Amino acid sequence: MLRRLLDSPWTYFVLAGALFVVLLLTQFEVRLPPRPSGTPDEIQALKQRDDVNVVWILIDTLRADRLHSYGYERQTSPVLDYLARTGVRFDRVVSQSSWTKASMASLLTATWPQRNGILRWSHSLPAEAKLPAEILQEAGFYTAGIWRNGWVAPNFGFAQGFNTYVRPQPNATPERFQKRTPSASPLIGTDEDLTMAAGEFLRAYGHKRFFLYLHYMDVHQYAYDEASAKFGTSYSDVYDNSIHWVDRNIGALLRQLQDQDLARKTVIVVSSDHGEGFREHGLEGHAKTLYREVSEVPFILALPFELEKGIVVPEIVANVDVWPTVLDLLGLPALENTDGRSLVPLIEAAANGSQADFDRPAFAQIDRSWGRPSADPDPLIMITRGDIRAFQPTMEGKQGEVEYYDHSTDPWEAKNLAVAGPDGRKSLPPEVDQAIRDYLAMPAVAWGGPQEVELNEMELNQLRALGYVIQ
Ligand SMILES: [Zn+2]
Repeated sequence: MLRRLLDSPWTYFVLAGALFVVLLLTQFEVRLPPRPSGTPDEIQALKQRDDVNVVWILIDTLRADRLHSYGYERQTSPVLDYLARTGVRFDRVVSQSSWTKASMASLLTATWPQRNGILRWSHSLPAEAKLPAEILQEAGFYTAGIWRNGWVAPNFGFAQGFNTYVRPQPNATPERFQKRTPSASPLIGTDEDLTMAAGEFLRAYGHKRFFLYLHYMDVHQYAYDEASAKFGTSYSDVYDNSIHWVDRNIGALLRQLQDQDLARKTVIVVSSDHGEGFREHGLEGHAKTLYREVSEVPFILALPFELEKGIVVPEIVANVDVWPTVLDLLGLPALENTDGRSLVPLIEAAANGSQADFDRPAFAQIDRSWGRPSADPDPLIMITRGDIRAFQPTMEGKQGEVEYYDHSTDPWEAKNLAVAGPDGRKSLPPEVDQAIRDYLAMPAVAWGGPQEVELNEMELNQLRALGYVIQ
């Protein structure tokens, strides 16, 4: 039924009209739907409820510091700011890689890249891996994923546990749309298609208990409509415009949750897979390094009720913690053998104004030759502990320079403090070096790591359409 609706052009014609009206209403002022008031004490009680849905909004390529609620001076994100202001905002969140598939594999399995091994373009999650949607489905949720990024397509193993897992039917990009470089970003359609498909899902399945995963792509594509073009025309301005556009889409989604009386029984989780570089370290884009601009992402939890004063969790956490936290919050079975932890105790500590005991380094990893099948692996490891961040390339015989930064004096990693020894080679302090050795020695996941997939030329072209060089 849903598939038929999603495939029918009439569905989209009718919905496009409805959504256009909704977006028109939100064009000049964001009036957000209220949820009932609640207190931090009610967070524990969520475990006992059996009516709470989950909407997981994954905004691809969204770096945290471009959201007003994370300190950005521009008002790029009034809707997400509202969710943060009345919910829980994790202030420092490290993504586990800087390209979609590796990062999403870690996020969903709650394991570090070194343990799950999903590092190269041909790797997929095997059926043995247990994903959050499987747990939610087993717990009786109707599960749906709507996505526009080919790296989370079913052939890479990401559909496990979903009753419905679809790309939205793409409409022709409306004339009011702009993209930074239209010819270089031929991904068809816009995130409006995704919001409309989500709306249709809610109309069809909102009466059931549901889990809805929405993977937004227009920030990745620098796409936005005229009404979102608030911040100028430079490369970086256009990125901000696209954030504002996706934020307005989320506003339309919230309004529908309210209209269907679902806002008071839905947890909304907002996260991202990686950030984006603007030449801070010489490179534009992502998928090449692990510096803070490409590896620090938002994580916002909106509860089924509004807190008078939002909770801010200050500790440095990681994307591997997202699903352990959501499952714990709802009293559902945990993912097993994870590196991620439930952050519910940190939420409670922050709400009480006390300090949580959370001393765990956060790791990230990228194989810098992930898109070249014939090239040798070229891994780079990042560790973050408190204010210390270090980078270590680990390829034998090709070892690049290690890097060591102190965020307390150098938050954007401009001055490498690693000291050169008598042989001219830089090294890390022994305790940091040891922590990276321990990380590399961690046992592989029990489900056996990646499978290799063969992609045909069409599938490869769909990935190239995202702007990646895949040979
Ligand atoms: Zn991505």
